[in-house]
Amino acid sequence: MQNDKIISCLAYNGKVNIRCIRSTNMVEEARKLHDLSPTSTAALGRLLTITSLMGKEMKGEKGTITTQVKGSGLIGNMTAVADNNGNVKGYVSNPQLDLPLNPENGKLDVGNAVGKQGMIYIIKDIGLKEPYVGMTPIVSGEIAEDFTNYFAKSEQTPTVVALGVLVDKNGVRAAGGYLITLMPDATEEDIVKIEEALKKADSISKMLDDGRELVEIAEIVTGDQNLMYFEDDNIPQYICNCSKEKMERNLITIGKDEIKDIIEKDGKAELICHFCNKKYVFSEEDLRKLID
Ligand SMILES: [Zn+2]
Repeated sequence: MQNDKIISCLAYNGKVNIRCIRSTNMVEEARKLHDLSPTSTAALGRLLTITSLMGKEMKGEKGTITTQVKGSGLIGNMTAVADNNGNVKGYVSNPQLDLPLNPENGKLDVGNAVGKQGMIYIIKDIGLKEPYVGMTPIVSGEIAEDFTNYFAKSEQTPTVVALGVLVDKNGVRAAGGYLITLMPDATEEDIVKIEEALKKADSISKMLDDGRELVEIAEIVTGDQNLMYFEDDNIPQYICNCSKEKMERNLITIGKDEIKDIIEKDGKAELICHFCNKKYVFSEEDLRKLID
């Protein structure tokens, strides 16, 4: 299977920015780690895909972005975190939720799984004192539309967002997405050309499943055959960087009395990482050290 990849391009002489991602492997990794149902694979997969793409844009050595979708649907909350290489991790409250296909379009019913009401949260931390926090209401629960609304309302940037995850009985067949951002000097003519191009284009997951390269996809969806594009050798991946030390810090934050309680009741503590489901066991001895 091809590696995952992110590319960044300029169309219409720099007046339009387009970023594309192939995220098939990272979404498949999430599916395996969390034993996700097809519906949850599509929902969390779309969120991981956009978060990786937005993470790659972050400034600063240690920039991270956290996205959360808190909708009214049965899937519960979803969280994804990416670094500025596009490496990503995430989890969902109800990983096994599976709904019938959406009767209107025959696709996995992410909108109803997420729910039509609720909020999305975007937290960007570039190492300043306070992270940037943006939030907007959920529009459809389909994730791409919800982020389109976020870019328009919260960042005042007109952006086309497309996200797709294609799942079959063997797992994730294709996943990816793109963001088309209009610069302030984009003309009405450029916009019309892009609209025409988007009308003709297949869905992102179909184009990836057909084996199209990201540059080709960028050309198709912008309608510009003379793109300038940038790519690096970086392979964005699903990576969890949890460790016993980090878990220790989490335990310390719950306080001495709570830890004493745990010792009395259970004699040990078992912590499971939300992002990768790795289990960390703290013995009574470990816990007593933490209290000291
Ligand atoms: Zn972990």
